[in-house]
Amino acid sequence: QVAKAGGDTIFGKILRKEIPCSFIYEDDQCVAFNDVNPQAPTHFLVIPRKPIPQLSRSEDVDEQLLGHLLIVARKLAKDLGLGNGFRLVVNDGPDGCQSVYHLHVHVLAGRQLGWPPG
Ligand code: 5GP
Repeated sequence: QVAKAGGDTIFGKILRKEIPCSFIYEDDQCVAFNDVNPQAPTHFLVIPRKPIPQLSRSEDVDEQLLGHLLIVARKLAKDLGLGNGFRLVVNDGPDGCQSVYHLHVHVLAGRQLGWPPG
């Protein structure tokens, strides 16, 4: 999937509300919503409104935004009571198993997660 200008991915459509999706959090920089195919009892995604296709194509100017995604993940983990731990994942590119080329941070929790990942 090639990322086009304007965030023309499924997540771009979600951000533009062309596809219904209930946000668990939103602010001027990012939104969070549950993954449609959860890999753990809790599995949500935090995505920037800015259509950065993948972490490896982010730029130094995105430093504040990238930090913001982690801060939001931390706050949501606290609000959702994930005190026993959680995992953040950013898949990048084919070897990273990225399937949607709009940057997103996975937040997984609610069961003992295996390590290392397969
Ligand atoms: P990736 O493999 O790119 O790191 O993760 C993409 C994630 O987006 C997958 O976990 C997939 O289940 C999720 N996903 C794909 N399409 C949709 C959608 O339309 N709605 C939601 N909520 N999640 C989606």
